[in-house]
Amino acid sequence: AIPLVVAINTSLAARNGMLVRDRIAMEDARNLDAIIFDKTGTLTEGEHGVVDMATVNGVDEDDALALAAAVESDSEHMIARAIREAADERDLTTPDATAFEAIKGRGVRANVDGNEVYVGGPNLLTQLDSEIPAHLQRFADEAGQNAQTVVYLVRDSELIAAFAMADVIREESFRVVDALHDLGIEVAMLTGDSQDVANAVADELGIDTVFAEVLPEDKDEKVQELQDQGKLVGMVGDGVNDAPALTRADVGIAIGSGTDVAVQSADVILVQNNPMDVVRLVKLSKASYRKMQ
Ligand code: ADP
Ligand code: MG
Repeated sequence: AIPLVVAINTSLAARNGMLVRDRIAMEDARNLDAIIFDKTGTLTEGEHGVVDMATVNGVDEDDALALAAAVESDSEHMIARAIREAADERDLTTPDATAFEAIKGRGVRANVDGNEVYVGGPNLLTQLDSEIPAHLQRFADEAGQNAQTVVYLVRDSELIAAFAMADVIREESFRVVDALHDLGIEVAMLTGDSQDVANAVADELGIDTVFAEVLPEDKDEKVQELQDQGKLVGMVGDGVNDAPALTRADVGIAIGSGTDVAVQSADVILVQNNPMDVVRLVKLSKASYRKMQ
């Protein structure tokens, strides 16, 4: 039989927009030592817009943007949408692209006018072994310090442009970090974005532990890393990429418009897409435990 108090919790939770898929995890929430948040779309709004760009000598900005938009034309990623919008705003005609390929956690590639073209972040450059020209590196450094995500355009092995995209920290995130600290919980952040951007966001929020430039297939290892330190670990995320980490966590929490995969991998689903519900979840779990004693 289900202990009455647990049944009550579950309906209380439901009334607070928390769907509990695993009751044990709901009980474990009161003992969490650390909670890891996915950055983009969880701690930040995730609505990137292109705010600045730079190109190498001889490459026109409009041509670079149109080319990037062509490569991104098949992608649903927020970055892709932002690049297409930026091209639209300049009324650019995007060239035809074929042979689209999404490279998980790195970027996208396609063929355009007989060239092999990529758009992606730091993890893509590592994979392609691309050199960043000095002035584009300076552009990227400056953007990173301003917490702007940078993606690069690579045409036939040559890095020809960089785009800086703005994302904003969600207002609730500040209160979430403070409240979790008050509860004695370590706050960590996990992202495929660059170390610079991750550090800037973490500094601003007062986050304790940062995992940046993490590939989707390695995200669950970061959960394990904290668990190996003897910690009970919660993970909050929304994306397909977060699913293995949600599964690995002691308490996996899918938030908001989470993808089906994230929802199926989570122990608790926060329906209202409000990160403050993570704090409410911990408090509800603590309150129930006291009742049971
Ligand atoms: P996160 O880990 O922040 O949730 P993702 O795993 O979706 O983000 O992507 C990680 C990184 O991969 C992004 O920050 C970006 O550098 C790159 N990336 C992914 N998809 C795309 C895309 N369609 N266009 C350009 N870059 C991309
Ligand atoms: Mg994500």
